[in-house]
Amino acid sequence: MTYALEISALKKTYKGGFQALKGIDLTVSQGDFFALLGPNGAGKSTAIGVITSLVNKTAGQVKVFGYDIDTDLEKAKSFIGLVPQEFNFSQFEPLMNILVNQAGYYGVTKSVAIERAEKYLKQLELWDKRDAPARTLSGGMKRRLMIARALMHEPKMLILDEPTAGVDIELRRSMWSFLRELNQQGITIILTTHYLEEAEMLCRNIAIIDGGEIVENTSMKKLLAQLDVETFIFDIKEGT
Ligand code: ADP
Ligand code: MG
Repeated sequence: MTYALEISALKKTYKGGFQALKGIDLTVSQGDFFALLGPNGAGKSTAIGVITSLVNKTAGQVKVFGYDIDTDLEKAKSFIGLVPQEFNFSQFEPLMNILVNQAGYYGVTKSVAIERAEKYLKQLELWDKRDAPARTLSGGMKRRLMIARALMHEPKMLILDEPTAGVDIELRRSMWSFLRELNQQGITIILTTHYLEEAEMLCRNIAIIDGGEIVENTSMKKLLAQLDVETFIFDIKEGT
């Protein structure tokens, strides 16, 4: 079966010469729940930026459901829902508008968009806020709004960049169960995190990135069975 994501020899050197990705190989199977784990500055957001074409790569290849981002970018992008690390919506627009407009970019008709917005606002417990401007939301609510927005074109793969950083534990749990549900519906999920326990709770497979290199790529089960896992947890925590 075609991979949901296939990355080969991916390199990114930023202007000024800093090499953020040093040649990454990675595959994520369809239906997987995959964690990209690493300390701050490891290259997680850079990798996601390249996959979603927000960042130009220096070398290498990225395929999304078999479509190369160099030759079939629009098609590749249509499979992806992105929840970026930073809030990037208009703070003054009401939630309903943000969601319906987003669907519009993908050619979803207005009536379908409204139906979907209603569904996700309810599922993500934002329905009461549907007419409120985004700036009135708490941090956790804004994060959920970004998840709803990422789902508006019904992507086959959801990529979340540190979705629970700074989110309190109760809300984190409810986000986890929502993501699990999406995954059970068949959506491939990739998330970046620097919490090993988050990856452990949710993910089937994991890659660990550090200094722009993949240092481990295995199943969660195997990683946890490794003897030096305690040392590793310590390293990750120190690194953040
Ligand atoms: P992570 O998401 O894992 O915290 P990033 O991908 O954001 O890591 O960053 C990886 C490295 O690339 C860091 O050292 C960061 O300072 C550097 N970096 C990120 N964006 C830029 C940029 N626009 N220009 C130069 N260096 C950058
Ligand atoms: Mg990041």
